[in-house]
Amino acid sequence: MTAVDLAAPVELPVLGSLSPSRAGDFMTCPLLFRFRTIDRLPQAPSSAATRGTVVHGVLERLFDLPAAGRTLAAAADLLRPEWERLREEQPEVGGLFADEAELQTWLTSAEKLLEGYFTLEDPTRLEPAERERLVQVVLPGGLRLRGIVDRLDVAPSGDVRVVDYKTGRAPGEMFEGKALFQMKFYALVLWRTTGRVPRLLQLMYLGDREVLRYVPDESDLLATERKLLALWEAIERATQLKQFAPRPSKLCSWCDHQALCPSFGGTPPPFPDVVPGPDVPLPHQAAAVEAAAAREAAAAREAAAAGDAAAREAAGALEPAAARAAAPEG
Ligand code: SF4
Repeated sequence: MTAVDLAAPVELPVLGSLSPSRAGDFMTCPLLFRFRTIDRLPQAPSSAATRGTVVHGVLERLFDLPAAGRTLAAAADLLRPEWERLREEQPEVGGLFADEAELQTWLTSAEKLLEGYFTLEDPTRLEPAERERLVQVVLPGGLRLRGIVDRLDVAPSGDVRVVDYKTGRAPGEMFEGKALFQMKFYALVLWRTTGRVPRLLQLMYLGDREVLRYVPDESDLLATERKLLALWEAIERATQLKQFAPRPSKLCSWCDHQALCPSFGGTPPPFPDVVPGPDVPLPHQAAAVEAAAAREAAAAREAAAAGDAAAREAAGALEPAAARAAAPEG
Protein backbone atom coordinates (compact mmCIF):
# COMPACT_ATOMS: atom_id res chain seq x y z
CA MET A 1 0.00 0.00 0.00
CA THR A 2 1.24 3.50 -0.76
CA ALA A 3 0.24 6.71 0.95
CA VAL A 4 -2.04 9.09 -0.89
CA ASP A 5 -2.45 12.74 0.00
CA LEU A 6 -6.13 13.39 0.52
CA ALA A 7 -5.70 16.77 2.19
CA ALA A 8 -8.42 18.96 0.78
CA PRO A 9 -7.64 22.66 0.67
CA VAL A 10 -10.75 24.60 1.69
CA GLU A 11 -9.81 28.05 0.47
CA LEU A 12 -12.94 29.07 -1.42
CA PRO A 13 -15.71 30.81 0.56
CA VAL A 14 -18.09 28.16 1.86
CA LEU A 15 -21.69 29.15 1.13
CA GLY A 16 -23.32 25.81 1.85
CA SER A 17 -22.43 22.34 2.98
CA LEU A 18 -23.74 18.90 2.14
CA SER A 19 -22.88 15.47 3.48
CA PRO A 20 -24.29 12.25 1.99
CA SER A 21 -26.74 11.97 4.89
CA ARG A 22 -27.98 15.57 4.58
CA ALA A 23 -28.39 15.17 0.83
CA GLY A 24 -30.13 11.82 1.42
CA ASP A 25 -32.51 13.45 3.94
CA PHE A 26 -33.59 16.12 1.45
CA MET A 27 -34.11 13.57 -1.31
CA THR A 28 -36.14 11.35 1.04
CA CYS A 29 -38.27 14.14 2.53
CA PRO A 30 -37.58 17.91 2.50
CA LEU A 31 -39.37 18.33 5.84
CA LEU A 32 -37.18 15.65 7.42
CA PHE A 33 -34.14 17.63 6.18
CA ARG A 34 -35.56 20.78 7.80
CA PHE A 35 -36.23 19.04 11.12
CA ARG A 36 -32.73 17.58 11.28
CA THR A 37 -30.57 20.28 9.69
CA ILE A 38 -32.38 23.57 10.29
CA ASP A 39 -34.48 22.97 13.43
CA ARG A 40 -31.83 20.57 14.76
CA LEU A 41 -34.41 18.50 16.58
CA PRO A 42 -32.80 15.82 18.73
CA GLN A 43 -33.14 12.22 17.63
CA ALA A 44 -33.69 9.47 20.15
CA PRO A 45 -30.88 6.89 20.02
CA SER A 46 -31.92 3.49 18.65
CA SER A 47 -30.32 0.17 19.46
CA ALA A 48 -29.84 -0.59 15.73
CA ALA A 49 -28.07 2.71 14.97
CA THR A 50 -25.98 2.43 18.15
CA ARG A 51 -24.98 -1.12 17.21
CA GLY A 52 -23.88 0.24 13.83
CA THR A 53 -21.73 2.90 15.50
CA VAL A 54 -20.11 0.36 17.85
CA VAL A 55 -19.42 -2.17 15.05
CA HIS A 56 -17.88 0.59 12.90
CA GLY A 57 -15.68 1.56 15.87
CA VAL A 58 -14.53 -2.05 16.31
CA LEU A 59 -13.72 -2.44 12.61
CA GLU A 60 -11.70 0.75 12.74
CA ARG A 61 -9.71 -0.32 15.81
CA LEU A 62 -9.22 -3.88 14.52
CA PHE A 63 -6.62 -2.52 12.11
CA ASP A 64 -4.62 -1.04 15.00
CA LEU A 65 -3.73 -4.65 15.87
CA PRO A 66 -0.82 -6.44 14.18
CA ALA A 67 -2.08 -8.24 11.06
CA ALA A 68 -1.91 -11.74 12.56
CA GLY A 69 -3.96 -10.64 15.58
CA ARG A 70 -6.97 -9.46 13.56
CA THR A 71 -9.21 -12.41 14.38
CA LEU A 72 -12.92 -12.65 15.05
CA ALA A 73 -12.18 -13.34 18.73
CA ALA A 74 -10.03 -10.19 18.92
CA ALA A 75 -12.76 -8.14 17.23
CA ALA A 76 -15.39 -9.53 19.62
CA ASP A 77 -13.16 -8.53 22.57
CA LEU A 78 -13.22 -4.94 21.31
CA LEU A 79 -17.03 -4.73 21.40
CA ARG A 80 -17.57 -4.00 25.08
CA PRO A 81 -14.78 -1.39 25.38
CA GLU A 82 -16.14 0.30 22.26
CA TRP A 83 -19.63 0.33 23.80
CA GLU A 84 -18.23 1.80 27.05
CA ARG A 85 -16.40 4.48 25.07
CA LEU A 86 -19.57 5.45 23.20
CA ARG A 87 -21.59 5.52 26.43
CA GLU A 88 -19.06 7.93 27.91
CA GLU A 89 -19.24 10.19 24.83
CA GLN A 90 -23.02 9.96 24.47
CA PRO A 91 -24.55 9.20 27.89
CA GLU A 92 -28.06 9.08 26.35
CA VAL A 93 -27.34 5.65 24.79
CA GLY A 94 -26.97 4.25 28.31
CA GLY A 95 -30.77 4.21 28.61
CA LEU A 96 -31.20 1.79 25.69
CA PHE A 97 -30.90 -1.33 27.87
CA ALA A 98 -32.82 -2.11 31.02
CA ASP A 99 -30.19 -4.47 32.46
CA GLU A 100 -26.98 -6.39 31.79
CA ALA A 101 -28.89 -9.29 30.18
CA GLU A 102 -30.41 -6.96 27.55
CA LEU A 103 -27.01 -5.39 26.92
CA GLN A 104 -25.45 -8.83 26.53
CA THR A 105 -28.10 -9.91 23.98
CA TRP A 106 -27.40 -6.73 22.02
CA LEU A 107 -23.62 -7.28 22.16
CA THR A 108 -24.18 -10.82 20.85
CA SER A 109 -26.16 -9.40 17.91
CA ALA A 110 -23.25 -7.04 17.24
CA GLU A 111 -20.87 -10.02 17.30
CA LYS A 112 -23.01 -11.67 14.59
CA LEU A 113 -22.32 -8.64 12.38
CA LEU A 114 -18.60 -9.03 13.02
CA GLU A 115 -18.91 -12.71 12.05
CA GLY A 116 -20.53 -11.48 8.84
CA TYR A 117 -17.57 -9.19 8.21
CA PHE A 118 -15.09 -12.06 8.60
CA THR A 119 -16.99 -14.14 6.00
CA LEU A 120 -16.57 -11.28 3.50
CA GLU A 121 -12.85 -10.55 3.79
CA ASP A 122 -9.71 -11.47 5.67
CA PRO A 123 -8.37 -8.42 7.57
CA THR A 124 -5.01 -10.12 8.14
CA ARG A 125 -4.30 -9.58 4.44
CA LEU A 126 -5.18 -5.89 4.36
CA GLU A 127 -3.44 -2.67 5.37
CA PRO A 128 -5.95 0.14 4.88
CA ALA A 129 -4.47 3.50 3.90
CA GLU A 130 -7.16 5.39 5.84
CA ARG A 131 -9.92 4.64 8.31
CA GLU A 132 -12.79 6.93 9.30
CA ARG A 133 -11.28 9.61 7.15
CA LEU A 134 -12.86 13.06 6.91
CA VAL A 135 -12.85 14.09 3.24
CA GLN A 136 -14.04 17.40 1.91
CA VAL A 137 -13.91 19.73 -1.04
CA VAL A 138 -15.39 23.12 -1.86
CA LEU A 139 -16.84 23.30 -5.37
CA PRO A 140 -16.24 26.54 -7.35
CA GLY A 141 -19.77 27.85 -6.55
CA GLY A 142 -19.06 27.63 -2.80
CA LEU A 143 -20.82 24.35 -1.98
CA ARG A 144 -18.73 22.24 0.36
CA LEU A 145 -19.07 18.46 0.15
CA ARG A 146 -17.99 16.70 3.28
CA GLY A 147 -18.21 13.17 4.63
CA ILE A 148 -16.43 10.50 6.63
CA VAL A 149 -15.24 7.48 4.65
CA ASP A 150 -15.13 4.19 6.58
CA ARG A 151 -12.01 2.91 4.84
CA LEU A 152 -9.71 3.65 1.92
CA ASP A 153 -7.44 0.99 0.48
CA VAL A 154 -4.67 2.13 -1.85
CA ALA A 155 -2.91 -0.38 -4.11
CA PRO A 156 0.80 -0.02 -4.98
CA SER A 157 -0.38 1.22 -8.40
CA GLY A 158 -2.14 4.11 -6.62
CA ASP A 159 -5.62 2.71 -7.35
CA VAL A 160 -8.04 3.61 -4.57
CA ARG A 161 -10.85 1.41 -3.24
CA VAL A 162 -13.52 3.18 -1.17
CA VAL A 163 -15.06 0.82 1.41
CA ASP A 164 -18.20 1.39 3.45
CA TYR A 165 -19.60 -1.01 6.06
CA LYS A 166 -23.36 -1.33 6.36
CA THR A 167 -24.98 -2.95 9.35
CA GLY A 168 -28.50 -2.72 7.88
CA ARG A 169 -29.93 -4.96 5.15
CA ALA A 170 -28.65 -4.98 1.57
CA PRO A 171 -30.95 -2.99 -0.75
CA GLY A 172 -33.02 -4.68 -3.44
CA GLU A 173 -31.96 -4.04 -7.03
CA MET A 174 -34.32 -1.05 -7.30
CA PHE A 175 -32.66 0.72 -4.37
CA GLU A 176 -29.05 -0.03 -5.27
CA GLY A 177 -28.75 3.40 -6.91
CA LYS A 178 -29.66 5.09 -3.65
CA ALA A 179 -27.10 3.02 -1.75
CA LEU A 180 -24.42 3.85 -4.29
CA PHE A 181 -25.19 7.58 -4.19
CA GLN A 182 -23.25 7.93 -0.93
CA MET A 183 -20.27 6.09 -2.44
CA LYS A 184 -20.34 8.25 -5.59
CA PHE A 185 -20.43 11.30 -3.30
CA TYR A 186 -17.17 10.16 -1.64
CA ALA A 187 -15.67 9.23 -5.02
CA LEU A 188 -16.48 12.71 -6.33
CA VAL A 189 -14.78 14.38 -3.34
CA LEU A 190 -11.70 12.15 -3.74
CA TRP A 191 -11.56 12.80 -7.47
CA ARG A 192 -11.84 16.57 -6.95
CA THR A 193 -9.14 16.55 -4.23
CA THR A 194 -6.63 14.11 -5.73
CA GLY A 195 -7.41 14.30 -9.46
CA ARG A 196 -7.85 10.53 -9.56
CA VAL A 197 -11.14 8.63 -9.90
CA PRO A 198 -11.29 5.82 -7.29
CA ARG A 199 -10.98 2.43 -8.98
CA LEU A 200 -13.71 0.69 -6.98
CA LEU A 201 -16.58 1.52 -4.63
CA GLN A 202 -17.39 -1.33 -2.26
CA LEU A 203 -20.37 -1.55 0.09
CA MET A 204 -20.15 -4.40 2.60
CA TYR A 205 -23.48 -5.52 4.11
CA LEU A 206 -22.42 -7.35 7.24
CA GLY A 207 -25.88 -8.61 8.23
CA ASP A 208 -26.69 -10.14 4.83
CA ARG A 209 -23.05 -11.00 4.17
CA GLU A 210 -23.20 -9.41 0.75
CA VAL A 211 -20.86 -7.07 -1.10
CA LEU A 212 -21.98 -4.51 -3.65
CA ARG A 213 -19.18 -3.32 -5.93
CA TYR A 214 -19.21 -0.53 -8.48
CA VAL A 215 -16.57 0.85 -10.83
CA PRO A 216 -17.17 4.60 -11.23
CA ASP A 217 -16.02 6.75 -14.12
CA GLU A 218 -15.72 10.49 -14.68
CA SER A 219 -19.13 10.81 -16.33
CA ASP A 220 -20.74 9.14 -13.28
CA LEU A 221 -19.04 11.58 -10.96
CA LEU A 222 -19.89 14.61 -13.11
CA ALA A 223 -23.53 13.50 -13.01
CA THR A 224 -23.31 13.17 -9.21
CA GLU A 225 -21.83 16.68 -9.00
CA ARG A 226 -24.65 18.11 -11.15
CA LYS A 227 -27.19 16.33 -8.98
CA LEU A 228 -25.68 17.74 -5.77
CA LEU A 229 -25.56 21.27 -7.17
CA ALA A 230 -29.23 21.02 -8.22
CA LEU A 231 -30.07 19.64 -4.79
CA TRP A 232 -28.31 22.55 -3.11
CA GLU A 233 -30.22 25.03 -5.28
CA ALA A 234 -33.49 23.37 -4.24
CA ILE A 235 -32.46 23.53 -0.56
CA GLU A 236 -31.56 27.24 -0.87
CA ARG A 237 -34.89 27.98 -2.57
CA ALA A 238 -36.80 26.07 0.12
CA THR A 239 -34.87 27.96 2.84
CA GLN A 240 -35.64 31.35 1.28
CA LEU A 241 -39.33 30.47 0.97
CA LYS A 242 -39.30 28.67 4.37
CA GLN A 243 -41.10 25.82 2.61
CA PHE A 244 -40.00 22.24 3.21
CA ALA A 245 -42.82 19.95 2.16
CA PRO A 246 -43.37 16.56 3.81
CA ARG A 247 -42.95 13.60 1.47
CA PRO A 248 -44.58 10.59 3.15
CA SER A 249 -43.16 7.17 2.34
CA LYS A 250 -42.46 3.83 4.01
CA LEU A 251 -39.54 5.54 5.76
CA CYS A 252 -42.00 7.55 7.91
CA SER A 253 -42.17 4.50 10.22
CA TRP A 254 -38.57 5.28 11.24
CA CYS A 255 -39.03 9.06 11.49
CA ASP A 256 -38.66 10.51 15.00
CA HIS A 257 -40.73 13.57 14.10
CA GLN A 258 -44.16 12.25 13.12
CA ALA A 259 -45.78 14.24 15.96
CA LEU A 260 -44.63 17.49 14.25
CA CYS A 261 -45.39 16.39 10.70
CA PRO A 262 -48.53 17.68 8.90
CA SER A 263 -48.85 14.31 7.13
CA PHE A 264 -49.54 12.83 10.58
CA GLY A 265 -51.72 15.69 11.88
CA GLY A 266 -48.82 17.59 13.50
CA THR A 267 -47.59 21.18 13.18
CA PRO A 268 -43.89 21.96 12.64
CA PRO A 269 -42.27 24.47 15.02
CA PRO A 270 -41.95 28.10 13.77
CA PHE A 271 -39.19 28.43 11.17
CA PRO A 272 -36.05 29.60 13.02
CA ASP A 273 -34.98 33.23 12.52
CA VAL A 274 -31.37 32.14 12.10
CA VAL A 275 -30.51 29.14 9.94
CA PRO A 276 -27.38 27.33 11.23
CA GLY A 277 -24.34 28.05 9.05
CA PRO A 278 -22.60 25.44 6.91
CA ASP A 279 -19.80 24.91 9.45
CA VAL A 280 -22.07 23.70 12.22
CA PRO A 281 -22.29 19.90 12.14
CA LEU A 282 -25.52 18.20 13.22
CA PRO A 283 -25.60 17.35 16.94
CA HIS A 284 -25.36 13.59 16.32
CA GLN A 285 -22.51 14.09 13.82
CA ALA A 286 -20.49 16.58 15.84
CA ALA A 287 -18.53 13.96 17.80
CA ALA A 288 -17.67 11.95 14.67
CA VAL A 289 -16.61 15.06 12.72
CA GLU A 290 -14.53 16.26 15.66
CA ALA A 291 -12.87 12.85 16.09
CA ALA A 292 -12.11 12.60 12.36
CA ALA A 293 -10.70 16.15 12.34
CA ALA A 294 -8.53 15.33 15.37
CA ARG A 295 -7.22 12.18 13.64
CA GLU A 296 -6.51 14.23 10.52
CA ALA A 297 -4.58 16.83 12.55
CA ALA A 298 -2.60 14.06 14.32
CA ALA A 299 -1.80 12.42 10.95
CA ALA A 300 -0.66 15.80 9.58
CA ARG A 301 1.59 16.30 12.63
CA GLU A 302 3.03 12.79 12.19
CA ALA A 303 3.62 13.37 8.48
CA ALA A 304 5.33 16.71 9.24
CA ALA A 305 7.50 15.05 11.90
CA ALA A 306 8.37 12.22 9.50
CA GLY A 307 9.18 14.82 6.82
CA ASP A 308 11.45 16.70 9.25
CA ALA A 309 13.21 13.48 10.24
CA ALA A 310 13.69 12.54 6.58
CA ALA A 311 15.02 16.03 5.80
CA ARG A 312 17.41 15.83 8.76
CA GLU A 313 18.50 12.37 7.65
CA ALA A 314 19.07 13.57 4.09
CA ALA A 315 21.05 16.59 5.36
CA GLY A 316 22.97 14.27 7.68
CA ALA A 317 23.84 11.98 4.79
CA LEU A 318 25.57 14.91 3.10
CA GLU A 319 27.62 15.78 6.18
CA PRO A 320 31.13 14.37 6.66
CA ALA A 321 30.98 11.29 8.91
CA ALA A 322 33.21 12.93 11.52
CA ALA A 323 30.90 15.95 11.80
CA ARG A 324 27.85 13.63 12.26
CA ALA A 325 29.66 11.67 14.95
CA ALA A 326 30.50 14.88 16.80
CA ALA A 327 26.93 16.29 16.61
CA PRO A 328 24.91 16.12 19.83
CA GLU A 329 21.91 13.76 19.84
CA GLY A 330 18.63 15.62 19.43
S1 SF4 B 1 -43.04 11.56 9.09
FE1 SF4 B 1 -42.53 11.12 6.97
S2 SF4 B 1 -43.29 12.89 5.81
FE2 SF4 B 1 -43.22 13.48 7.96
S3 SF4 B 1 -41.22 14.46 8.23
FE3 SF4 B 1 -40.96 12.32 8.79
S4 SF4 B 1 -40.26 11.34 6.87
FE4 SF4 B 1 -41.19 13.33 6.30
